[in-house]
Amino acid sequence: MSSYEDYDDVPRQVTASDVVPNNQRTLRACVTCGLIKSIDQFITNGCENCTNINMREDRKRVEECTSTAFEGMIALTAPEKSWVAKWQGVERKCKGMYAIAVYGDLPDQD
Ligand SMILES: [Zn+2]
Repeated sequence: MSSYEDYDDVPRQVTASDVVPNNQRTLRACVTCGLIKSIDQFITNGCENCTNINMREDRKRVEECTSTAFEGMIALTAPEKSWVAKWQGVERKCKGMYAIAVYGDLPDQD
């Protein structure tokens, strides 16, 4: 018997098409959490982990809050079970691709 209770630990339900990069030439990493997606995915859905940044449907904000300068990629399919996720401090984040290092700063908040 399967039940939705199996997924109680998952912070929010995310479909693979939301978080698996679909266009390698436009990949960007969220400066805050390291989630890697194409710029179009960030514009469509924002960052699944950083909803407070409100990048959704705001290309300028996506460009400010994500960076093309990142190193390494980690694929997280079960962040809550992964030692790599703990090492990267992303075990509470949604599954997806994560950068090991992101170079960039959030814009100053006035
Ligand atoms: Zn983020």
